Amino acid sequence: MVDSYKHQGMRRRLIQKLREKGIEDESVLSAMGKVPRHVFFENAFLEHAYQDKAFPIGHGQTISQPYTVAFQTELLNVKAGDKVLEIGTGSGYQACVLCELGTKVYTIEYQRDLYERTRRFLPEMGYKPLFFSGDGSKGLSKHAPFDKIIVTAGAPTVPNSLIEQLSIGGCLVIPVGDDNVQQMLRLTKNTERKISKEVFSNFSFVPLKGEDGWK
Ligand code: SAM
Repeated sequence: MVDSYKHQGMRRRLIQKLREKGIEDESVLSAMGKVPRHVFFENAFLEHAYQDKAFPIGHGQTISQPYTVAFQTELLNVKAGDKVLEIGTGSGYQACVLCELGTKVYTIEYQRDLYERTRRFLPEMGYKPLFFSGDGSKGLSKHAPFDKIIVTAGAPTVPNSLIEQLSIGGCLVIPVGDDNVQQMLRLTKNTERKISKEVFSNFSFVPLKGEDGWK
């Protein structure tokens, strides 16, 4: 994996752009500054790697826009050692950012070929989240509870099972809406029965599929 001065310079400019767009958490910016986003792109598309844009990764899916990754990660407010569930592994970029933040990452992907590709690729880069294949719309009950859960696909509603699988004090960051536009939500489990909800800006994700997603 080549990470040249040119790549590093492009990455620094991207991080500065994220700061200008309002991302304040320096630990998130620093983690994103360490993950070489260009290695997720074929050479012909290198130009796109450090633009603040989503990009197709095959099978009708995308590597999320850097601003979206930064925004969701900032909301998640992780600390080193947190046990985090990511629903929608995709390219694995978000999982790498979470690994850089020192969390223990469980990541699940619905699309079998993407799961296979990312499960092989990330360890080659030195990132070792735990990979799962299947429908994450109901979480990963076998490994619950999680300190934090992040959903990187647009859901029609908040799946109850994800709230159930949070530890007390934990939070779920999830985009919820229709198939065009979703509001970013953060749900915090204050006690077993008390859940608080915060609503943030609109985003546009590929759909969350599966039993508790868009069938
Ligand atoms: N986090 C990814 C990254 O860093 O590249 C971006 C994810 S992409 C925007 C959304 C991903 O969610 C797709 O790879 C899609 O296949 C996956 N997905 C959709 N529904 C799912 C489900 N029910 N369970 C797990 N993954 C799902």
